[in-house]
Amino acid sequence: MEAPRPHRPPSIRLVNALGRAASGLGLRLPSLSEESLLRAAEEATGLADFGPSGFRPGLHQLLASLERDAALNSIGRIFARGQIVDLLANRLRLLEHRKRHPDLANQRVERPLFVLGLPRTGTTILYGLLAQDPAHRSPLSWEVGFPCPPPRGETYHDDPRIGQMDRQLDQLRRCVDCIRCGACFSDCPKRGEGGEFIGPAACVDLFRFFFDPRDGSREKRGGTALAPGGIFDCDSHANCVKVCPKDVRPLRAITFMKREFPASREE
Ligand code: SF4
Ligand code: SF4
Repeated sequence: MEAPRPHRPPSIRLVNALGRAASGLGLRLPSLSEESLLRAAEEATGLADFGPSGFRPGLHQLLASLERDAALNSIGRIFARGQIVDLLANRLRLLEHRKRHPDLANQRVERPLFVLGLPRTGTTILYGLLAQDPAHRSPLSWEVGFPCPPPRGETYHDDPRIGQMDRQLDQLRRCVDCIRCGACFSDCPKRGEGGEFIGPAACVDLFRFFFDPRDGSREKRGGTALAPGGIFDCDSHANCVKVCPKDVRPLRAITFMKREFPASREE
């Protein structure tokens, strides 16, 4: 079933309209060209050696597919560009670290284990189980997300990257705590206006289950979030944050989705 046409606030529509105007002049903004992304990663890190070119065919395919298949609007292009530049910058930092510490190449990782799978299929619990074995060196989320410089023994428990990753995961944990008491729904001024806004608790559920692909309803949830009455009807009054007895902070979930969802399809 085709998702309903997304509803977007004026600021987002303005950015997309400017993008379409630029596209009419033959400019696809912001650029997703390979060279432009590589240069941006270089500027972000002050490094320029990407090492062996084995990653280039995959990058090339990804960028071609984003242009050909994803039909990204300007906001979507901004997000895609940011994520790819971050990954390329990680590559530059890792290679630089290897150059400064050539002895690392002599270290052997004996029989590494990789846990791969879609979200919510048991990978986390399997990983956690394997990590219980003191013979295993199991990288934590912050080490995987921010791999360079590698963690050091003396700062392993208070590295600032731990807090950075915690903040990223915090909202998902909070949404799981929702007890559906309805306090946020009653106190939401947008609900009081008598419109069709689905309300903060429903937005919390959309956020929580958007990351769960098991029932194949991701597209449908995206449609609900973007349709009139969805997340863009929230006026950010924050009453829902004040009244929630479980500190779920629905506004943070809504703000996150407002940032992420415009990356879907061209209006
Ligand atoms: S007030 Fe908090 S716990 Fe209650 S329904 Fe809203 S988000 Fe959930
Ligand atoms: S922030 Fe949004 S959801 Fe929360 S009370 Fe205000 S309008 Fe309602």
